[in-house]
Amino acid sequence: MKITGDQQLIKKMNKTIVLDTIRQRQPLSRADISAAIGLNKATVSSLVSELIDSHLVTEMGPGESSGGRKPTLLHFNRSAGYAVGIDIRVNDLLAVLVDLEGHVLQEKTVPLADFTPEHVLEQIRKTIRQFSKKLPESPYGIVGIGIGVPGLVDDKSRVVSAPNLDWNQVDLYESLASEFGPNLHIDNEANAGAIGEKLYGAGREAQNLIYLSIGIGIGSGIIVGGELYRGTSNFSGEVGHMTVAENGPLCRCGNRGCWETLASEKALLDRAAKLWSDSHLDLEEIIQLARGGEPRAVQLLDEIGARLGVGLANLVNILNPELIVIGNRLSLAGDLLQDAMLRTIENRSLSYHRKKSGVAFANLGIRSTALGAASMPITMFLSEPDPALAQEGSPSAGL
Ligand SMILES: [Zn+2]
Repeated sequence: MKITGDQQLIKKMNKTIVLDTIRQRQPLSRADISAAIGLNKATVSSLVSELIDSHLVTEMGPGESSGGRKPTLLHFNRSAGYAVGIDIRVNDLLAVLVDLEGHVLQEKTVPLADFTPEHVLEQIRKTIRQFSKKLPESPYGIVGIGIGVPGLVDDKSRVVSAPNLDWNQVDLYESLASEFGPNLHIDNEANAGAIGEKLYGAGREAQNLIYLSIGIGIGSGIIVGGELYRGTSNFSGEVGHMTVAENGPLCRCGNRGCWETLASEKALLDRAAKLWSDSHLDLEEIIQLARGGEPRAVQLLDEIGARLGVGLANLVNILNPELIVIGNRLSLAGDLLQDAMLRTIENRSLSYHRKKSGVAFANLGIRSTALGAASMPITMFLSEPDPALAQEGSPSAGL
């Protein structure tokens, strides 16, 4: 008789399921797990023992008894290790050190004097080393690193093009993996932001979600059925370059009338430079003026809100999402853009499509990308919960 099942593989899968159940429903008992996933109690107990041995699960005080002996409750040990998330932005890096549940322990903004890959890589290395110096004792130390890049990243983690950084074909992976280990994830910043908002932010309950990153340009991360939609070449989501005005302004991509030439932070600032020709107002100053009732500022944000609504109506019609989350810089002006934006969606999208679609502003503020980036190595680490990986007494394994 041919053996069709791989016992080791099945055991590994079951262990991941047990760990996921504990993470999602903690605190709970072994009997609760058994009831929840339908594995027998002996198997659950043996897998839980292994997870306790590998420091990923801890036992805590007894829970409520339903008659007999009080059961011991299990918790996910979110401090078994840590991850670093980095958002490479246009003027600086935002870096976070998080535990395995995404709680921020350390945060750092590093200004970038220049954008050459060498300089940015050096700042990334320095930041990770600084984080690891102040790392609490833990069995696994830093388990991995995630980086969000404002550009196209292929499925081999190579940055194919990042126009705002003037990068073409930059390989961050090779030079960082040699120092920090292979659990290193490099992705488009909007994809990372989408994952961040799905796991920890406004999109936790949504299965079909579009995260819009609106800064100098407009990018998006599209989550379909709970998973990121990556497209054939990993380049999906460039919604900023959908044409919304046939003869509109020239875009940096070469096309005319791209959505981001009309509704991004840059579009807003270009317009502001014409309205207030004697002073260079930034987004924060324009927001402040609008909150004070300055009519030109109010009108300008209203215009941008309406233009945002045009593209959003297209996305609602095409993808019929449950939720659109607007993140990055322009979300700072959310309350001022909202009315015109919602009105335009209402006027321009198909009624059956928008019925169940909601629009929200990012819960994680400007941290969506950094937190989403940090979650990628955590997901990878937890999918291979192997006690052999734990390096006892080493606070910074892999460094
Ligand atoms: Zn374009």
